[in-house]
Order: sequence, then structure tokens, then C-alpha cells
Amino acid sequence: MTANPTRVLVLNSGSSSVKYQLLDMADGARLAVGLVERIGEETSYLAHTPLATGGAKREREERMADHADALKAVAEELAADGLGLDSPELAAIGHRVVHGGQKFTQPTVITEELVAELEKLVPLAPLHNPANITGIRTAMGLRPDLPQVAVFDTAFHSTMPESAARYAIDTATADEHSIRRYGFHGTSHAYVSRETAKLLGKDPSEANVIVLHLGNGASASAVRGGECVDTSMGLTPLEGLVMGTRSGDIDPAVILHLSRNAGMSVDEIDSLLNKKSGLIGLCGDNDMREIRRRIDEGDEQAALAFDVYVHRLKKYIGAYYAVLGKVDAIAFTAGVGENAAPVREAAVAGLEELGLAVDASLNAVRSGEPRLISPDYARVAVAVVPTDEELEIATQSYALVSA
Ligand code: ADP
Repeated sequence: MTANPTRVLVLNSGSSSVKYQLLDMADGARLAVGLVERIGEETSYLAHTPLATGGAKREREERMADHADALKAVAEELAADGLGLDSPELAAIGHRVVHGGQKFTQPTVITEELVAELEKLVPLAPLHNPANITGIRTAMGLRPDLPQVAVFDTAFHSTMPESAARYAIDTATADEHSIRRYGFHGTSHAYVSRETAKLLGKDPSEANVIVLHLGNGASASAVRGGECVDTSMGLTPLEGLVMGTRSGDIDPAVILHLSRNAGMSVDEIDSLLNKKSGLIGLCGDNDMREIRRRIDEGDEQAALAFDVYVHRLKKYIGAYYAVLGKVDAIAFTAGVGENAAPVREAAVAGLEELGLAVDASLNAVRSGEPRLISPDYARVAVAVVPTDEELEIATQSYALVSA
């Protein structure tokens, strides 16, 4: 072992994919990034970019039967650049874990006991947690001696008061089945709310921020003095904003109606609400770029999808304004939030009485840097703050193992 290993490998394991980044926490440098897709299919795909050496992206297409195969291929690619998993400079592997339930509210060093606890949480995140667990087990197999850390998507939201976390349903039923609002995208909301405070020249403990994480999945959060007090996703990532393929908020009776009157099964309704709703359900496209292109061509269906999306967003801005009482900044982040100027403009339009405005020329600037897009006179700052979930996972993992 070298005296102070500072590298962290971040793994985000999905059901048939693994995304990874190797970061050096000495200076935050990204040494390598990559992903494996189509794990378990006939031909899997790996793309690896060795940023440390400035080398070109390398691609592999071959069968990787499972996550173990995939991680072995990743390890080979890293080793080819002298960044192998056996490197003494590797301090930890940080794993994104989607659901931490009520138990895990902090990044946690992974042990066999922790994995067993994660297994118990599978019913809360049946699509995500099993893949996360597979990634963890595989990585533990490759480097059993190395600290591995679980960083939970739900953790940042654990500070929500009961008034925000509880659903107004029978308490005994809710408690028996762990039904409450957990929230997701927590590493993004944590990172972006902190970076927004920095942009304002404030300590996070002094800033009230509404974070709008608008990716394919989308969520809003109200952050008071660095702590989350409300967020739009709930028991699962289905609640809240209109998303690429998810409905977000819906009258729960719609589900009963579909079951009783449309003869749809639970799985069919699940698929409808998670995969065939949101923007794609409204207009057949889930990519905001394509929707904007269609609107420019006069497509009314695309225009309606955009309007429904923005209307929901605006409702959440208003709701979280009221929750916080005083707002210092609204921060847009993730694919849509960082890139789609028309969404930012429309979401804030008409809110001048709340001290909110967007400057058209600042909003039109394309940049990968955190930046303000509100005019000087606005009481509330409007910001675009690129998210960096991998850096946040690496930072939290490293803080834990180097403490
Ligand atoms: P994920 O939730 O998959 O991490 P991202 O945060 O990468 O998603 O966001 C992906 C979405 O961002 C795309 O589906 C698209 O709607 C949107 N997006 C990406 N680039 C642009 C752009 N230049 N203009 C508008 N929307 C964009």
C-alpha cells in the first residue's frame, strides 16, 4: 500500500449496464470513464476512455454473460492504462445504491451484513437494488481487501420532516409496508444545492435552494440550509414531475380505474406509468431536443407535451417556494436542466412577483460551468449548475474511508 491512496472507482450498476469513473480525490481529476451495456445479451458493448493518458475511446463488442464478466473487462481496460484494480493507489470503490430505505441515511462501508440488509430493501426498489447488489458482490469478489462504500440515492432526503415524508394513508398499513416518501437523485440534489450556494458566495448552511434535476428521470427538491426538507419523488421514482417516460403525479384512482375498467394487470399499469407515460406518452418522444424540433415545425402534440411538462415544473417551483418561505436560488441541472433554455425560460415565466426572472441572453449561453441566468435586479437567483453524481459519490466514499 502507498501511504495515501487517493483514487476512487465509482460504479453505477444497472440491470444490464455498468457505468464507471475512476477519480483521483487528490485533485478531483477524472482518470477514466466508461460504460458497459447489454450485459447478458448476445453481444455486450464496452466503451472506455482513458482520460489520464489522453488516449482515445476504446470500444469492445463481445459477450459478457453477467456483471462479473463486465467488471473483469472494465478491470482489463483500466489495467491497460496502468490504472488497474490492483493498484495500491486505489482507496475505495464507491457504489451508487438506489434505495437505502429508512435505515441508510449516510454513506456506509459495505460488509456482508450490509449486503444482507440491502437484500431486504429489494421490494422497495425491485428494478434497481438487485443490480446494485450484483455490482457490489462482483466488485467485492475482485478486490475483497479494498474498502467498498455504498452511497444511497435516498440518503440526502432523509432529513425531510415527517409532514413531507408521510403519505396521508392509514398509518399502520404505511408502517407495515415501509410506505413513505424517500426521494431519489439524492447525490445530485446534495451536490447541486451545495454548488449553488458556492456560486452565490454563501455557505450551504445559509442558502435556501430549489433544485430542479431534469434528466430523463426528473425530480425537484427544497433544500433549507443544506438540508433537504421536501422532494418530488416518493416511495419510488414515479412521483412528482413529468419525466421522459414516467407520468409523475397522478390521481391514484387512475390506477384503480385502469384495473377495474380497462382490465389491465398490475404489470401492465406499471409499464404504462413508468415506460409509456410522461413526454413519450404525451407525444411519442422523450428527448427534449426532438420535442423542441417538432415544436419549431408547428407540431401541436409536441407543444402540448412541453406545456404539460412546464406546467408541472412551475407548480413545484411554487410549492417549494412556499415550503421554504424564503428562496435564495433556483438551480436547473441534468440533461434538460443544463441544456434546454426554453424549459428554463418557460418554467420561470410570469413569476416576477416572486422575485424570479431569467435574462434571455444569459439563458442562451451554452456552457459546462455553473452560472447565473437571472438579471441583476432579480431577488432570487436562477442558476444552471451542472450535476456530477460520480464526483459526489467519490467525494462521499473517500471522506468515509480516509477519515
Ligand atoms: P439521465 O436521467 O438518463 O441521466 P440526463 O441527465 O443525461 O438523463 O438527461 C437526458 C435528457 O436530457 C435527454 O433525454 C434529453 O431530453 C435532454 N437533453 C440532453 N441534451 C439536450 C439539449 N442539448 N437540449 C435539450 N435537451 C437535452
